[in-house]
Amino acid sequence: MENWLEIDLNKLKSNYEYIKKISGSNLCPVVKANAYGLGSIRIAKELVELGANIFAVAFLDEAILLRENGIEKDILVFNYVDLEELSEKYNEKIILTLFSLEQLKNILNIRIASKIRFHIKINTGMNRLGFDEKDIDELCYLIKKYNLKVEGIYSHFSDVEDENFTRKQYMEFIRVSEIIEEKLSKNFVKHISNSAGALKYKEFNLDFIRCGMGLYGLQPLKVKDENISNVLSWKSKISDLRNLSKGERISYGNEEIEEDKKIAIVPIGYSHGYIFQNSKNGYVIINGLKANILGNIFMDQMIVDVTEIEGISIGHEVVVLGDGVEAEEIGKSSNTIADDVISKISLRVKRIYK
Ligand SMILES: *Cc1c(COP(=O)(O)O)cnc(C)c1O
Repeated sequence: MENWLEIDLNKLKSNYEYIKKISGSNLCPVVKANAYGLGSIRIAKELVELGANIFAVAFLDEAILLRENGIEKDILVFNYVDLEELSEKYNEKIILTLFSLEQLKNILNIRIASKIRFHIKINTGMNRLGFDEKDIDELCYLIKKYNLKVEGIYSHFSDVEDENFTRKQYMEFIRVSEIIEEKLSKNFVKHISNSAGALKYKEFNLDFIRCGMGLYGLQPLKVKDENISNVLSWKSKISDLRNLSKGERISYGNEEIEEDKKIAIVPIGYSHGYIFQNSKNGYVIINGLKANILGNIFMDQMIVDVTEIEGISIGHEVVVLGDGVEAEEIGKSSNTIADDVISKISLRVKRIYK
């Protein structure tokens, strides 16, 4: 194998247990985008063993994939669902999100509308998906009229670091939820918090926390939480080594090198999902030492500086993401975020679970 992703399931377990303990709440693992790149089927199976009772994904296909691979728990779908696909593929373990009147009216046109389980999404300030307060009368009227199976209400925090805004979102959520519960004479499951919220505001947990980042070892808050362990290591092997003299050129773009260097070629490039923008400031780890990326990253390879690194030959292990080179750091040096760095790792890269 020229490059592979190692996923440490013991670390996943320790993150799950830590977030559960510190929040004192149930967790709804978010396994959208192939569990942020870690592999949703295997990760969900592991989390079922740890006690997870409900999962969340972005799209219907992601939910179907889990269902077809033995995940028997409820799965909440956050996002837009195509009505034709819904008619064909709906399954009673899947819960959809109602997020606007127009979407709701479209759903009412399909034959199975009254069989579908729903959670209602409330907009509390992020302005992505969700009902505003002015929609609530009509929403409740339609739910009653068509006897829809609504089971839960939720919203989403837009910036947990902003304490005033987060408190406002929470209060708004509770206020609107109570209006809905009163109109429908029913109590619903409620949830609003994500990983960052779970670590910062225990008082906002409600029935469960929807968490992704923290489980997968990404830091949810600006201040690093040492109890969240790194789960991922993306590794490769040196494919070639070469000595260069000052003035020689390197990579596409013919960058001139300013001193004699020893370089190594690593068979990972942007087509594997490694962030191209990390060409300028990025590095990998070899023998525990930093090796800077030189020149532009290629489609399937990169060049790194190993001038200071002793005792290496072709086939020597390289860590491009993991201990010593965390997703947060790669995000910072390539002007993006840690979630973006890990969720883009191509399916072409083999996942190995330890
Ligand atoms: C992705 C997502 C989450 C999980 O957020 P983390 O910050 O990864 O814990 C929770 N809720 C919604 C609606 C999401 O889209």
